[in-house]
Amino acid sequence: MKIYKFGGASVRDAAGVRNVSDIVTAADGRLVVVVSAMGKTTNALETLVDAFFYGRHDECAGIIAALSDSHLRAADELMGADSPCHAALRSLLAKLAEKVAGQPSLNYDFEYDQIICYGELLSSVIVSHYLNSIGRPARWVDIRTALKTDDNYRDARIDWQLSATFVPDAFAGADVCVTQGFIGSTINNLTTTLGREGSDYSAAIIGHILDAESVTIWKDVPGVMSSDPRWYPDAQFLPRLSYWEAIEMTYFGANVIHPKTLKPLQNKNIPLRVRSFVNPGAEGTVISSFDNSDSLPPMLILRRNQIFISMSPKDFSFIMEDNLSQIFSIFSRHKVKINLLQNSALNFSVCIDNTPKLPALLDELGRSYNTRYNDDLELLNIRHYDAATLASVISGKTIIDSQVTRKTARYVVKASPWNFRQS
Ligand code: ASP
Ligand code: MG
Repeated sequence: MKIYKFGGASVRDAAGVRNVSDIVTAADGRLVVVVSAMGKTTNALETLVDAFFYGRHDECAGIIAALSDSHLRAADELMGADSPCHAALRSLLAKLAEKVAGQPSLNYDFEYDQIICYGELLSSVIVSHYLNSIGRPARWVDIRTALKTDDNYRDARIDWQLSATFVPDAFAGADVCVTQGFIGSTINNLTTTLGREGSDYSAAIIGHILDAESVTIWKDVPGVMSSDPRWYPDAQFLPRLSYWEAIEMTYFGANVIHPKTLKPLQNKNIPLRVRSFVNPGAEGTVISSFDNSDSLPPMLILRRNQIFISMSPKDFSFIMEDNLSQIFSIFSRHKVKINLLQNSALNFSVCIDNTPKLPALLDELGRSYNTRYNDDLELLNIRHYDAATLASVISGKTIIDSQVTRKTARYVVKASPWNFRQS
């Protein structure tokens, strides 16, 4: 059993679905296909959630019309307007329209998940119907019947035990199954989601539970690169990578794979492949327990839009364990992740992603600490650095903070255009 995950860019239109189906048809053995919403559908649905929640009804109608149009058009182009797919899409779209014609509850995150899930439901219906129409029988699986989570809407946690009891049955007895990434449901069968871009994680969860032979993420890039070639011209393609290195990269912000994806696979030693749907003949990157960290080139990961907050206790005390535990509990309560931290006797500093939660966080910190912050920053992580790379990336930068260990150098710098000396 293998798992193939296709992101939004791969299924963005009829041509994309055709290409994905060619890749699926060429695979041998049993296959679970996990798909994301088509193209930018999730962004459009986010606007719909907002319009619904705040009562902008005209806007809702416009968004639903555009979504109907793009999905029905793709299906009609692939299978004709009288195909069973057309009817299945219409029924989903009618449910969505009915949902937004009603009254929202007071819980934004709950409403978000009940609406945002339609992106993956619609795309998976198109892909499974199309596979059947070209003679590759595929079963559509509503993953919400099997993937169980808690009720932390928009960032739900997997109930591994319950999911392990339902997932195997949901996929048993079919050669090819098509299901949705990103979504799950509570024990009360209310839809939840795993966080934006969470479909990679879904594929890994399903792969883990089914003891898959491998999980493949099909993307519009050749595989994992040592950096983002759009801003770092010396970026190199990495054919192999250990779980450990890949986890470090994604944790620091390399957005080629969702950061939660690797752990469930590492625990069962299931290789993760990252391949190009544009060039499916190429091997791509294999992430496994094979450790080649000694021969890796410098890997640069840039996190943009950072905030650096410095705090000192108002009572002139030193930064001690009790302050630290208070500070961490404030960050945890506001659900703000710390990307880097630094302390001295009187000062404690953190670097975080800029977030709409910032004012409330600063407000609470400000009750016990004199708090200052810098914005418009970038956090640069360089793993397996060498002197030449360091010199090239930090030249001309205003450094706010730095941390250098044996393997990793990290700099908080003022945002400015990147201009490299090419080697
Ligand atoms: N469709 C969701 C998103 O755009 C999940 C995913 O693509 O992984 O965030
Ligand atoms: Mg996506």
